Amino acid sequence: MTEIGEIEGIDTPFYLYDIDLLRRTLQKVCDNASRYGFFVHYALKANFEPRILQEVKSFRLGTDCVSGGEVRASVEAGFDPAGIVFAGVGKRDDEIEYALEKGIFAFNCESLEELEVIDGIAAKSGRRARVALRINPDVDPQTHKNISTGQADSKFGIAYTEIEEAIERAESLRNTDIVGLHFHIGSQITNLKVFEYLCKRVVSIMSWFEGRGVKITYVNVGGGLGINYESPRTEPIPDFDTYFRIFADNLPLRPDQTLHFELGRSIVAQCGALITKVLYNKKTASGKNYVLVDASMTELIRPALYGAHHHIENLTPHDGTEVYSIAGGVCESSDIFARDITLPVTERGDLLALHSAGAYGQSMASCYNMRPLPRSVYYTEVDGIE
Ligand SMILES: *Cc1c(COP(=O)(O)O)cnc(C)c1O
Repeated sequence: MTEIGEIEGIDTPFYLYDIDLLRRTLQKVCDNASRYGFFVHYALKANFEPRILQEVKSFRLGTDCVSGGEVRASVEAGFDPAGIVFAGVGKRDDEIEYALEKGIFAFNCESLEELEVIDGIAAKSGRRARVALRINPDVDPQTHKNISTGQADSKFGIAYTEIEEAIERAESLRNTDIVGLHFHIGSQITNLKVFEYLCKRVVSIMSWFEGRGVKITYVNVGGGLGINYESPRTEPIPDFDTYFRIFADNLPLRPDQTLHFELGRSIVAQCGALITKVLYNKKTASGKNYVLVDASMTELIRPALYGAHHHIENLTPHDGTEVYSIAGGVCESSDIFARDITLPVTERGDLLALHSAGAYGQSMASCYNMRPLPRSVYYTEVDGIE
């Protein structure tokens, strides 16, 4: 990673991306995927910064999109439409139309009504739609409730109790080919046993479909592999070896079947940090020390939204330590990055790094309180800071 001297003059706050680490991570993903013949679609919503997309594209990944805007961004960044998958519970008609026109690989369809809408739009535009049914397998991902998507009462996917009806309806569609099944049960999954359990569910749901005459050639198990937020420096690259091996070992495929993944966080989270400057120190009546910084929930909303933990480091050297809560300046009580953490003595002008901010940081940024969107800075060993 960079030395503080290299970033000292840059206006804060900003996202700092370690492009070398991103490349090493992508290489690891590709090595594993090619070992087993798996396909990986990068989940654009984790980070759609153009420079990041260029790096992802250079490793020949497909993309996973959850809006027409993301399909468009993929196409404009030069990704092959034949590698684009499109999920999302609320696809608008114009988004479906656009994706059909571009000839994407598949729609991951999330309800029976959507299935008929896609078929109708395909008819009108004289095209055939390739569709995978997103099945909600009712698997507990054992992660934060706000990033769980695969349990029975979730808004995502087609209920497994409805799959009989889904097949019946699919048979009457004239412009749609049901090519496969899709699953995505949640994000930041760190108990890898969960993926073993997912495999078991996928195997049984697949054979159920095939038993009813629906030939499944495309199987998509989504994303969700978690990263180490506690200690990003000791585990900069997630354990892709174990992750992919679990699927290779537990999900037997025929030669005509391909297995697809949609990884977001695990690819980009650790390569990004949010760099912020300390503005003020203050003490509450109860004796709590607050450090107010110039970043806020508008640059990194995860702590406010999910109570998420990001490792915070003071890059400016000081002697002694103190217990601090680190807060942003936005007018929301939840705009707090960390509560009661021990840091080196922290003074106005110090630079802090909020680590693991490469996923769901910049992509969730807003202009709330009329704050400007911050810039991105990229680091490589060869070119230094750009
Ligand atoms: C968000 C999302 C992903 C990516 O999840 P990560 O936890 O970032 O890997 C994959 N598939 C779908 C359908 C998603 O909505």
